[in-house]
Formats: sequence, C-alpha cells, structure tokens
Amino acid sequence: GYPLSPVTDYYGLFAGVQGEDLEAWQAAHALTEPILARINEAWEAAEYPMDLVRLLADSDLLTDGLDIPGHRRLSPLGAGLVTMEMSRIDGSMGTVVGVQAGLCARSIALLGSQEQKDKWLPALASAEKLGAFALTEPDHGSDSVALETVARREGDHWVITGEKKWIGNGANCDVSVVWARVDDESDPQLHGQVSGFIVEQHLDGYSADLIEGKLSLRAIHQAHIRMDGVRVPLDARLPEARSFKDTGRVLAATRAGVAWGALGHAIACFEIAAQYAKDRTQFGRPLAKSQHVQVRLADMLQTLVGAQLHCFRVAQLDEAGTLTPVQASMAKVHCTRAARSVAAEARDLLGGVGILLENQVIRHMADIEALHTYEGTDTIQSLLVGREIAGVSAFA
Ligand code: FAD
Repeated sequence: GYPLSPVTDYYGLFAGVQGEDLEAWQAAHALTEPILARINEAWEAAEYPMDLVRLLADSDLLTDGLDIPGHRRLSPLGAGLVTMEMSRIDGSMGTVVGVQAGLCARSIALLGSQEQKDKWLPALASAEKLGAFALTEPDHGSDSVALETVARREGDHWVITGEKKWIGNGANCDVSVVWARVDDESDPQLHGQVSGFIVEQHLDGYSADLIEGKLSLRAIHQAHIRMDGVRVPLDARLPEARSFKDTGRVLAATRAGVAWGALGHAIACFEIAAQYAKDRTQFGRPLAKSQHVQVRLADMLQTLVGAQLHCFRVAQLDEAGTLTPVQASMAKVHCTRAARSVAAEARDLLGGVGILLENQVIRHMADIEALHTYEGTDTIQSLLVGREIAGVSAFA
C-alpha cells in the first residue's frame, strides 16, 4: 500500500509517485518492523547494527538516486522518499543512506574515473564495502574550505597526512573518500587545491577512534581519523576533483537529502503524537478531544506539510536540472527547523512517557540535533541564503 496516511500526506503531494520510485519507497517502508524491533537496543548500546545495514542493501536502498548498473534507478523524488522513510523509522539508518550513498558513493560517481566507478559503486550499493566521506577536521568544520590535511606527491604515490573528525563509517569499515590539499609542484593547476582521494582504511598510517559519548544518532558510528603518511597510488585521486568547488558539488547534491531526512523525523513524531492524543485519557476524555490539543496537532501538521512542500519542490527542480545549491540550503534549514519543532511538540504531548525510548520520539528528537548541524549548520546555510538576499558575503 501507500506508505503515508491521507492525513500525513495532507495535500496528496506524493500520490503521483510510481514505478521504481514507488517500489523503493515501499521497500523502505517494509523495513519499519524489522528495524524498530532492534533499533532502540542498538541506540541505547551505541552499537552500529550491521545486520540492519545489510537489510537496507538487500532491499536496494543504498543508491540515493545514483545510476549504478544492476540497481534501481530512482528520480530525485524517489531517492528523497527513501531517505525520508528511513529517517521516519530511524535517524541512524537514514544517515547510513546519506553517508554510504549520498556522500561516499556520490563523490566517486560525480568525480571519479570509470575504473573507480566500476570498482567501488557496485560494492558500495550492495554494502559489500562500507564507505566514508572524510571532509571535516578537528579545526575546520564550517570553514572546511580551509582544511589542512595534505596529499603530497611522491613519485607514483600520494602521501596523505592529517586528521579528520566526525566521519561516519570512518572506523572499522572499508574505504574513506578523504579530502586533502594537494602538494604537487609538478602540477601548478592542482598544487594547493583541494582534491578527493580513495583511501582504504586498512592501510598503514590510517587509524581511527570512535567518537564516544554521542547522544544523537547513536546507532551509527562516527570516527576521529588520523592519517600519518598514508601512501596511496596516483590513481586513488578522483580525477574530476580539481578544487573545493567540486567538493561543494557533492555537498550541494546531498543537502536536499538532509531536508528529506528531517521530514522523515517530523512525520514519525507527528504520527506518534496524534495517535497518543487519541489513546490517552485525562480528565475523563481523550487528550485529542481538547481544543488546545487539536490546535497543536493542526499546527504540527501545518509545519509538516510546509516541509513536504519544500522537499517536493526541490525534487522537481533537481529533476529539471535547475536546483541551485542555495535552494537546497534553504530546504535544509526549513526542514530541520520544522522537524525540531514537531519533535518538541510531540515530546510534550506524550507527557512523561515522551522521554522513554520505547515511544521513539525522544530518539528522533535527539537524532535531529545531528541533522541540524551536519552538512553545513543551520546558521551557515542561512548565511548562504542571506548572501543572495544582501548581495554581499558575511563570511570573511
Ligand atoms: P563549527 O564550525 O565550529 O560551528 C560552531 C557554531 O558556530 C555553529 O553553530 C555554527 O553555525 C557557528 N558558526 C560557524 N561559523 C560561523 C559564522 N561565520 N557566523 C556565524 N556562526 C558561525 N563531516 C564529514 O566530513 N563527514 C561526515 O560523515 C560527518 N558526519 C557527521 C555526523 C555527525 C553526527 C555530526 C555532528 C557531524 C558530522 N560531520 C561530518 C561534521 C559536520 O559537517 C560539522 O559538524 C559541521 O559542518 C559543523 O562544524 P563544527 O562541528 O566544527 O562546528
């Protein structure tokens, strides 16, 4: 069936979805039960449930709209709905799609050579290999453009040295796309520019510690990576990654995915709260019979539908090939704010049990905090929109 109720899809925005897009969305929805059966335990234990990652791959949900032979070919709308549906179930699983497919595989798909694509894309889509996107550094988050990791050319190798922080799939997985500044005086065009390198995590000099004590997205691991003279062959460089602008192309493409993920969180929280309001009786009547509660539910739905409209339109623009990175920034900001607001309302409407993992809302609420910050913070994305309004940059 159709994965959303007529209330949750209030304007019937996604009613026209068909073909492989609908199949993928339904396949994602079908994972609700198996994931919910395991996820709270994994979240509480901060365990990365590899069996669930395999489940995503077995349902062919790790492509994020990339064109990978042998896999479903999704439109931007279909890819968005998969991300939405995964985050509606669980944010860590939504982030798995974002990291593995959205960031790691997309870097190779957009900027890699044919050999790199042939070698890595099918392996990533089937979760035979798990991949990371290593851009952020301990000293460079919002200003990742100023990253300090260096890839020095030494004969027919690159020697990579530097640190990366917050890297999903960066430890105990298989491969990291590492963004580093090129030191190669023999190539004046590339020298000093940022490029991407495919670095296998078993190589000498690569070490990574899991970031501990993380109270958001607990069921996926992020790592602090240290690279001390990691040697990779010359053809480990992504040939189309010639400057930070190319890194930005990958990020712009995935930013809309964060908006879709936030929408998924908002849907989950709204639906749980609406059901709870019908089930819970106080003062001799269901909460949902109170005027104040109904107004609050209506407000939550309005916020939710606003986020749906952003995502739907962004998918249309993407499909038409005219989506600008800043339009995606605006959607990311709008939808993560919407999700934070809906989650906070839902948590309140559940009263005390709103903070119990068994009711899901508190996990969604905590997980949204990561979406609010990652792939460009709320403030940084707003500054990009602000630059278009004001006509001047407020950054430097
Ligand atoms: P900072 O840049 O230090 O920002 C701190 C605060 O200052 C923020 O509120 C910010 O908005 C504000 N601020 C910064 N500059 C300005 C300014 N000019 N004006 C006004 N306010 C400003 N990175 C990867 O490369 N790969 C990953 O897989 C990855 N996964 C992540 C997963 C999680 C759970 C998290 C939390 C982060 C992840 N990141 C990843 C990193 C993420 O992209 C960064 O955390 C983010 O870009 C912000 O950087 P920062 O944390 O260093 O914050």
